[in-house]
Amino acid sequence: MNGASRIEIFDGHNDAVQFLMEYRDGARDFLTRSDDGHLDLHRAREGGLIGGLFAMFAKPDRPPEGDFTRTENGYEVRLAEPLDPLYARQRISEQSAALTHLAARASGQIRLASTVNEIETARHDSVFSIVLHMEGAEAIGPDLDGLEQLHAAGLRSLGLVWSRPNIFGHGVPFAYPRSPDIGPGLTSAGKELVRACNQLGVMIDVSHLNERGFWDVAALTTAPLVATHACAHAICPSTRNLTDRQLDAIRESDGVVGFNLCVNDVRPDAHLDEDTPLETIVHHLAFLIDRLGENRVALGSDFDGAVMPRPIKDASGLQRLVHALYGHGFGEVMVRKIMLENWLRVFGLTWR
Ligand SMILES: [Zn+2]
Repeated sequence: MNGASRIEIFDGHNDAVQFLMEYRDGARDFLTRSDDGHLDLHRAREGGLIGGLFAMFAKPDRPPEGDFTRTENGYEVRLAEPLDPLYARQRISEQSAALTHLAARASGQIRLASTVNEIETARHDSVFSIVLHMEGAEAIGPDLDGLEQLHAAGLRSLGLVWSRPNIFGHGVPFAYPRSPDIGPGLTSAGKELVRACNQLGVMIDVSHLNERGFWDVAALTTAPLVATHACAHAICPSTRNLTDRQLDAIRESDGVVGFNLCVNDVRPDAHLDEDTPLETIVHHLAFLIDRLGENRVALGSDFDGAVMPRPIKDASGLQRLVHALYGHGFGEVMVRKIMLENWLRVFGLTWR
């Protein structure tokens, strides 16, 4: 009965916290349906989303101007400046508090989850799960104390870097077409952070990390390799996407790639064009499934953080992606893995 029943979905990446009214005055109410941005509780329900990794991310107050350059066949963006760790700590603590407040005023419709069992229980109760992720580890000091505090607050997933350098490693500058092999690997503090994450059971996210940093994580970590939001470099050769060798290492480690719906990382031409057909998305997703196997691909939408393809538009449109996968010939068992079960499997292998 392909396509007959609605598929439940867990999403590996969104930036909705940036737009929460608990975080920013005058911003959106997550509990009220909106047409702004991509994600709120109502649109999540319409699309079949049962929860997601919510990225806490310290964005500078004023982004630098004029750092985007169009090149003959693509684009490049100047590498972002390092972030002041005190500023990062302040922002992250406000965002963590905002998500806690959101769950507290949601009349039981949202829970912060930090175990697979809590996600499963919430799903059973038709409650939406928020799992805390941090994109860029600037808020963690060189002594790594901050990691334990964040873990105690519910952090279960950590991107060592965003697309900027920090004391742990180097992120890739956004560029196309270009290799992600830019800059040095992890620092010694970065290697310590990998070990500490393994010990605490915090999932390490290699999204935004440069290639040498990726191989350092791969050599050190005892957990499966995970990219919460990325695509395949063989199809769209942007620095944010994973090379075939990286995908093979993720497969060998029994990890997961959360497929990023960001149009300029999905499209082979990397154009920032909403008019990206479902066929283009499914073709790219099928490549990842072919390379990684059906147990190691999931969804990492980047809702509220990227330009979405018009046929999906926002979280409410996710079942259209599900139907496109059926249309491509993927069966319901496989689609359930990609949309939900693969995340739960890798969380189960990683969290303690
Ligand atoms: Zn990101």
